[in-house]
Amino acid sequence: MNAKPSHPSVDFDVQRVRADFPLLARTVHGKPLVYFDNANTSQKPAQVIEAVDRHYREHNANVARAVHQLGEEATAAYESARDKLAAFMNASSRNDVVLTSGTTQSINLVAYSYALPRLQPGDAIVTTVMEHHANIVPWQLVAARSGGKVKPAPIDERGELILEKYFELLTPEVKLACVAHVSNVLGTVNPVREIARECRRRGIPLLVDGSQAMPHRPVDVQALGCDFYAITGHKMLAPTGTGALWAKREHLQSMPPFFGGGEMIREVRFDGSTFAEPPHKFEAGTPNIAGFSGVGAAIDYVQSIGFEAIRAWEHELLTYAIERLCEIPGLRIFGEAAEKEPVISFLIDGAQATDMATLLDLEGIAVRSGHHCAHPLMQYYGVPATLRASLAFYNTHEEIDAFIAALLKVRKLLM
Ligand code: PLP
Repeated sequence: MNAKPSHPSVDFDVQRVRADFPLLARTVHGKPLVYFDNANTSQKPAQVIEAVDRHYREHNANVARAVHQLGEEATAAYESARDKLAAFMNASSRNDVVLTSGTTQSINLVAYSYALPRLQPGDAIVTTVMEHHANIVPWQLVAARSGGKVKPAPIDERGELILEKYFELLTPEVKLACVAHVSNVLGTVNPVREIARECRRRGIPLLVDGSQAMPHRPVDVQALGCDFYAITGHKMLAPTGTGALWAKREHLQSMPPFFGGGEMIREVRFDGSTFAEPPHKFEAGTPNIAGFSGVGAAIDYVQSIGFEAIRAWEHELLTYAIERLCEIPGLRIFGEAAEKEPVISFLIDGAQATDMATLLDLEGIAVRSGHHCAHPLMQYYGVPATLRASLAFYNTHEEIDAFIAALLKVRKLLM
């Protein structure tokens, strides 16, 4: 049996990092928690929890409405999250960043405000077989309304997109192309720059679902060359109910508002209302102000550690976890792309994914089981569900060892 390398080759003070995450210290069913469900939602460092707490204790007020001191403080924190997100994604302007509740809302905004008005009967939207439902169903809904269709690009057994096939689908009736930057089930990193280049050559805008990329790698929307980039805050240390859509200015200018209400208007009259400039045009109603204070703190936190260190440590954990998983008889891994983030889907012969996850929970191990909101991907592999262990930079070799020991125990119980 492999043992944990006595000296991890990467110099990373993981215990210091873990001390920032209060929840990681808890036990579950009397066992130390091993949290391997990070692709579902990440845990939050004290800095983020305190930013939210501080908002309600010291600054709570609504944004952009009140001239009083608290209103100004709340607005400053909210708008500062936009600044930090813009810098984090290398957006050329903070006004190109629409704050949303997450990737789902970001993609739906593009579906209803960008795609729907442009789709004619017979038009198409290209997506891929490996997408999360959030990057499939909104396109189906607007296609159904407009007489358009959704064309899925295939993948191969390793879980890599078959690029030639994707490009073949980019025919003249395609009004929008979509792709996940990183698959939430396979960990596959898609070659977004290359896809964006081919889309540009054909004059087709590209939307990238960055929900699973932002927690693991620096994202530069300008260098990627896409048109839309959707992100989720809660998978990158920030509170739930936070996210953003970055889009090229020309698209945001051309898109009608999706939600109507307060804060998104210039003037409201019964003979016709006029709207604010982007991004505010798309931000009707009271947003998740406390949550976005947490987004600012999450970005500061990630930057204080640095993606170089995060990536090196996560890569070491991924390699070690795969090595150890391969020791388990009858274990099959789904997703062996050459470029992969630390998300490992697998099954063990003869054991149901949900039974395994339930028994693993009794050992203190949190993994996800199910279809991971990716039915077409499960259909491709011919399985109803997989187990998924998804790692973050605060995980350790010791946790992987505990996970493997628990898997072996649970496997024995189920055989
Ligand atoms: N896209 C991907 C690839 C995801 O993994 C997820 C969440 O799991 C989503 C979209 C949806 O994100 P949210 O629920 O935060 O809107």
